Amino acid sequence: MQKSHIEELQNIFGKGNVLTEVEDMIAYSYDASHVEIQPEAVVFATTTPQISQLMKLAYRERIPVTPRGQGSGLSGGSVPLKKGVVLVMDRMKRIIDFDPANRLITVEAGLTTADIDPIAAEANLFYPPDPGSVGFSTIGGNVAENAGGLRGLKYGVTKDYVKMLKVVLPQGDIVTMGSKCVKHVAGFNMEGIFVGSEGLLGIMTEVTLALLPIPEHRESALATFNSLDSAAQVVAAIIAAGVTPSTMEFMDNATINAIQNFKDCGLPKDAAAVLLIETDGQKDSAIAEMAKVETEVRKNDFRDFSRAKSSEERDLLFAGRRVALNALASVRPNLILEDATVMRSKLPDMVRGITAIAKKYKLQVGIFGHAGDGNLHPTFLIDMRNTDEMARTEKAVAELFQLAIDLDGTISGEHGIGLEKKPFLQNQLGGEGIRMLQNIKRTFDPLNLLNPGKMFDMPAEHSA
Ligand SMILES: Cc1cc2nc3c(=O)[nH]c(=O)nc-3n(C[C@H](O)[C@H](O)[C@H](O)COP(=O)(O)OP(=O)(O)OC[C@H]3O[C@@H](n4cnc5c(N)ncnc54)[C@H](O)[C@@H]3O)c2cc1C
Repeated sequence: MQKSHIEELQNIFGKGNVLTEVEDMIAYSYDASHVEIQPEAVVFATTTPQISQLMKLAYRERIPVTPRGQGSGLSGGSVPLKKGVVLVMDRMKRIIDFDPANRLITVEAGLTTADIDPIAAEANLFYPPDPGSVGFSTIGGNVAENAGGLRGLKYGVTKDYVKMLKVVLPQGDIVTMGSKCVKHVAGFNMEGIFVGSEGLLGIMTEVTLALLPIPEHRESALATFNSLDSAAQVVAAIIAAGVTPSTMEFMDNATINAIQNFKDCGLPKDAAAVLLIETDGQKDSAIAEMAKVETEVRKNDFRDFSRAKSSEERDLLFAGRRVALNALASVRPNLILEDATVMRSKLPDMVRGITAIAKKYKLQVGIFGHAGDGNLHPTFLIDMRNTDEMARTEKAVAELFQLAIDLDGTISGEHGIGLEKKPFLQNQLGGEGIRMLQNIKRTFDPLNLLNPGKMFDMPAEHSA
């Protein structure tokens, strides 16, 4: 990067907030996926006008810019594929407005997701989307990826809570979109376009989120099964019985064992699979719903059904689920985690299919995930240095995505496309679908400078 550009970045952000030394920038060259690319500079933003100035400079000088929250993304979204500048958002952490009467909170985009709940709780409110990464991911990253979480089945995902966004557009304009009103149809649903935009259309700097009252009561239980199939069938049976648990998480034997070896969370190491189930709401209804859940479990080939008797017991079970990915990561040198998603009714087919694919390619797989919303995380445990194993994994992943599409599902339920799933998006959307995305990108970012090369390629004439 030219010296004059670095000086301009230092003028905008302050000298101490610009990194250019290779060793200093290593931590900003990768995320939680497998791609690693060094940027030419890293900048730490603290205000929206700074970001506007950055994008004006980037547009004038044709410099690629990649926004980054905490880099916990699992699809390579914050990796600077075309180098240029990595724009780090995690110092923009202010709570701008807490409005309990309207159940709204406005925060800067770099705030950690888990930092909302302690404030919301002061007015007996909570923020429902809770990705497994809630303790370190940022709200901006959650909006950019439309993050889901353990409560998605009953409470939905990030898009269901985004009311307003302040965004810096690729050419530096600052715009606010959406409304604090419950209803709002004045113009296009612009905030909807930015949710899940993976940092390709603009940089979110402020986000207004809806909050909900904290449920009066929770009932939690662990159902243990002798086969993967029974666990998968019970998921659909519980929903068909008219119950919507707030959580219904699936873990197979490989995942259970990885967790127990990592941290003792009281999971049965010899079970084929478990479902971690929670109902919530008014006390009577949460208890009645859990009774219905138990009835459905008992109708199937279950082994054990035990309710958490204390909040400590409940927290331990949830802790087990939250460390699942870290635990699996400790089994072999590398892992490839996918998030192909199907409708709940197709969950047994998906679980059978994943098992068959892993067997066909002689791969070790752990399956866990948000079973209640059909969003599984088949996780291949591999050694990337083993070229033969890598080749088999690539074939297995391609087959897995095709299976999801064949089952009318999607190649990504919550982790986004980024770099990791880019080669497969065409199969999901078709040529017309990709062209529609390219046209939208061109409208916002005619020189293709904001997070270029992610999700889909732009035709060559539209790149700087
Ligand atoms: C252990 C673990 C568990 C996880 N569990 C879940 C889960 O349950 N559900 C789930 O959905 N995901 C999960 N994830 C994935 C990840 O945490 C989410 O995708 C999260 O939303 C990323 O947030 P981040 O701040 O780390 O964003 P980053 O990884 O830094 O960035 C992600 C994308 O957002 C863009 N971006 C970031 N900030 C902004 C901004 N302010 N404006 C515009 N674009 C921006 C980046 O350019 C990039 O494309 C998990 C990850 C890990 C490591």
